[in-house]
Amino acid sequence: METLDSVVIGAGAVGLAVARALARSGREVVILEAADAFGTETSSRNSEVIHAGIYYPAGSLKARLCVQGRRQLYAYCEERGIAHRRCGKLIVANGDAQIAQLAGIERHALANGVEELQMLDAGQARALEPALRCDAALLSPVTGIIDSHSLMLALLGDAQDHGAMLALRSPLLGARAVPGGFVLRVGGDEPMELTARELINSAGLHAPALAARIEGLPAASLPTGRLCKGNYFTLAGRPPFSRLIYPVPESAGLGVHLTLDLAGQGRFGPDVQWIDEIDYAVDPRRSEGFEQAIRSYWPGLPDGALAPDYSGIRPKINGPTEAAADFAIQSSADHCLPGLVNLFGIESPGLTSCLAIGAEVLARLDDHRPSAAR
Ligand SMILES: Cc1cc2nc3c(=O)[nH]c(=O)nc-3n(C[C@H](O)[C@H](O)[C@H](O)COP(=O)(O)OP(=O)(O)OC[C@H]3O[C@@H](n4cnc5c(N)ncnc54)[C@H](O)[C@@H]3O)c2cc1C
Repeated sequence: METLDSVVIGAGAVGLAVARALARSGREVVILEAADAFGTETSSRNSEVIHAGIYYPAGSLKARLCVQGRRQLYAYCEERGIAHRRCGKLIVANGDAQIAQLAGIERHALANGVEELQMLDAGQARALEPALRCDAALLSPVTGIIDSHSLMLALLGDAQDHGAMLALRSPLLGARAVPGGFVLRVGGDEPMELTARELINSAGLHAPALAARIEGLPAASLPTGRLCKGNYFTLAGRPPFSRLIYPVPESAGLGVHLTLDLAGQGRFGPDVQWIDEIDYAVDPRRSEGFEQAIRSYWPGLPDGALAPDYSGIRPKINGPTEAAADFAIQSSADHCLPGLVNLFGIESPGLTSCLAIGAEVLARLDDHRPSAAR
């Protein structure tokens, strides 16, 4: 049986960006996707925001890969004609406690290398967004929005141009480490076995469970996957805002915020709902909590203007009472299996960071390749 260079599991934005990076490095790449289309899970159930890199602890992978990834992503959008808009974002504070929190957020953001931030008083913020109520606001002009489907199409196109192949309806069932690589058991319409020198587990919500089915991988290296749903409500009519509006963040999420799509339609969310099973239904009764949260910064929200929209599920690797985990990109330095990279906890800002994650995975694989194979 022919041995492939690299097999990437999962054709979400991150898996596709990893496949693109590996294919561009000259590897023969196959992407195995369980669903019958690419990008049908978390990559099409998110806010489509190009994050600046504001909130994440300095020195974390999230901070570094978000800032790098955002710069790369804007350049890539320009180069490939991917629809996006650098619309900017305001994080708003009401009351002394939130103003102090906002100052802390600005310090984090500066430490992370976020550019062009401006702290605004109430008057300056209202001059930009007259419908807003706040005592202070942090303006981030480099935050933007993107059409995530076009992004994934471009990533896949680039990977294919460099010889990568996408196999749909091809779930990886399990794998075992053998000298020099992995034997992969693939299900679907035509079950088969493949061998590959490198295996990249980019299965999103399913990555921890899939990793547990890789024989030879020490169980101690595996995090427990947890599901944290974020529900969205859409706004009837045009929102009276031209920027994204965020409250100061709450635990596990960024607070019920307003995002805009490229057509100017507004939606609010995602909220925070820890769940045990994947379930994307949006409970209309959650709108009450949304209205209350939104009116703290937009008192003019009309009654009955919110309708249930979609939801997404954060692939968490920390529980509700634990500190937020960083992205976990585990290579042989973490688990002793050369050629295997597991991507765990790739929640927000994973979309923004996808190109930087691709480069990171490539670098970690190259670090452990015999020099003759590079
Ligand atoms: C509510 C919410 C809002 C978000 N908002 C933003 C945002 O505004 N900006 C931002 O930067 N990030 C955001 N994110 C994060 C971002 O969406 C994710 O980080 C990113 O989409 C993850 O991509 P992925 O490729 O890792 O996962 P996914 O898109 O979930 O792809 C994983 C793929 O693996 C496939 N798969 C699973 N198991 C197998 C198997 N055994 N064999 C083969 N295939 C398999 C699945 O079918 C799926 O297609 C948000 C996330 C959520 C949940």
